[in-house]
Amino acid sequence: MSGTEAGADRPTTSDAERLAVALAEARAGRAEGGIPIGAALFAADGTLLGRGRNRRVQDGHPAMHGETSAFTAAGRQASYRGTTMVTTLSPCWFCSGLVRQFGISRLVVGESRTFVGGHDWLAEHGVEVVVLDDPGCVQMMTDFIAAHPALWNEDIGVD
Ligand SMILES: [Zn+2]
Repeated sequence: MSGTEAGADRPTTSDAERLAVALAEARAGRAEGGIPIGAALFAADGTLLGRGRNRRVQDGHPAMHGETSAFTAAGRQASYRGTTMVTTLSPCWFCSGLVRQFGISRLVVGESRTFVGGHDWLAEHGVEVVVLDDPGCVQMMTDFIAAHPALWNEDIGVD
């Protein structure tokens, strides 16, 4: 990780800035031949705790989604109260469960046009959910799904 990247050295101040960190992860994953979904976990004051990307293809790890990757990179936290999980795409049920299990307070979603996971369910259970509907995130997933439909269906558990 470069110390000059946005969010690396100072607390973030906006959800758009936080999404940029997740989107950079997604694009790095795409460049590696992986599924372009990125995520980042931020402390209540905007400090980046961990960032990551879907690594199912790269690592052959079936549970390494963008959110689990960022969560793992953040290491153990005594409490997740006040933290924000930012993800480029609506979180699947597995990752929605992670947010609820650990009491992550906020969820920022890049887009929910190409896939709808559990973000409404999380909102019903007290998580503050913000859907940014970011055109860059929509375009990235639209292009990926068109190019790699089988890989996408594997990722979301559709056969
Ligand atoms: Zn997931």
